[in-house]
Amino acid sequence: MTGEENAQRMEKIVSLCKRRGFIFQSSEVYGGLNGVWDYGPLGVELKNNLKQYWWQVTVRERDDVVGLDGAILTHPAVLKASGHVDTFTDPMVDCRTCKTRLRADQLAEKKGIKQCPNCGGKDLTEARPFNLMFQTQMGASADPASIAYLRPETAQSIFVQFKNVLDVSRKKLPFGIAQIGKAFRNEINPRNFTFRSREFEQMELEYFCRPEQGMDLLAYWLKERIKFYEEIGISRKRLHILDVPEKERAFYSKGTFDIEYEFPFGRQELEGVAYRTDFDLQQHIKASGKALDYFDEETKERFVPHVVEPSAGVDRTVLALICDAYDEDSAPDEKGKMETRIVMRFHPRMAPVKCAIFPLLRNKEPLVAKAREVQALLRPHMNVFYDEGGAIGRRYRRQDEIGTPFGITIDFETLGEKGQELRDTVTLRDRDSMKQERVAIKDLPQLVSSKIR
Ligand code: ATP
Repeated sequence: MTGEENAQRMEKIVSLCKRRGFIFQSSEVYGGLNGVWDYGPLGVELKNNLKQYWWQVTVRERDDVVGLDGAILTHPAVLKASGHVDTFTDPMVDCRTCKTRLRADQLAEKKGIKQCPNCGGKDLTEARPFNLMFQTQMGASADPASIAYLRPETAQSIFVQFKNVLDVSRKKLPFGIAQIGKAFRNEINPRNFTFRSREFEQMELEYFCRPEQGMDLLAYWLKERIKFYEEIGISRKRLHILDVPEKERAFYSKGTFDIEYEFPFGRQELEGVAYRTDFDLQQHIKASGKALDYFDEETKERFVPHVVEPSAGVDRTVLALICDAYDEDSAPDEKGKMETRIVMRFHPRMAPVKCAIFPLLRNKEPLVAKAREVQALLRPHMNVFYDEGGAIGRRYRRQDEIGTPFGITIDFETLGEKGQELRDTVTLRDRDSMKQERVAIKDLPQLVSSKIR
């Protein structure tokens, strides 16, 4: 695809997200809040499916990982010890021509000269560090002692609670603590739709181990995480692994891989998988004076565990799911003429709506009653959507556009009007092949459930 085609594709995706209720600009009626987004009725379903699946495979299906839900408001001492207060910065420059604030490491260069991407101006200030943390005030007094921060990552509460979690869970190394939650960064230049936001969610795992296990576990978690993206339906060919060179890694990291995705706006990071050694726990031990260490019952050794951290972005993964799913093909319209069909090819596991239920006609009471019965039958098992408005082809198209993998139509056969053998059967339509099969209503919960897990 050319740059132009990619830009057009992205435009169509952004417009579909708004039109169908995946993602809205936050505070839109007041002109929008830059870098902040609201998820609409379909977006919240998609996001929840992603988070639930991550939690399922990372925590619930494993003996060696437990969960945590830490607070967003964070004690300044935590972020001082972690290094965020002093060094969590991006280099910032100002364009003197158009007054735009820019990230110095993301400037375009023309013939070796840095340029403002906004106006093309070359008159830029020197780069200076800009701290990305949001600071707030706790309580009624406004003195420096009342400063608190909105966390810039979820990881720090895991490190700070390491001992408490270890004591209550009685886990042996290696074991992990997982968390999903909001993080906040005052990005200089939020851009590329939700890709770089100021408020976003992370799914982080801190997997603690003995020092000699660190490098092997780094390779293990990289493999696990790639498997995860494949399991949620992201095509492997658009995923890339970047082995971050030593000079670009944090000084304490012995190995870091970035998992990148080919977005229409370029290849960008979805997740970092980093072997962070014992840096974080050591920092908190030094600053708090508390013993955040581990006692090995078998070897009678006491030591500070090392950690491997797979850290993924919820919003970036949602965006990758949307970009990966977006497709156009052709399908016959009401009169049999071929027309362009927009279809979101979400993996059924991720699809916001799993099954749409249509009575063939809205003004035939027995069809509507039967359709409502089918809806009640499936509802406890999955998110379903009932739609009786418009021609059936139109209704299929509306569901294709939001990626609903299955459509169920209740017709006159269902009512037994075309022979008793078809009574209480419906057509089950597959979004991708558009093929329909006849199935018994009583088999639907089991049949559809098996296809969406
Ligand atoms: P980048 O270099 O793109 O700013 P990062 O390397 O600073 O990212 P990490 O600190 O490793 O990111 O955070 C882990 C994950 O959190 C990222 O891989 C990404 O998925 C997500 N993330 C970080 N910053 C943002 C943001 N501003 N908006 C959305 N997601 C983010």
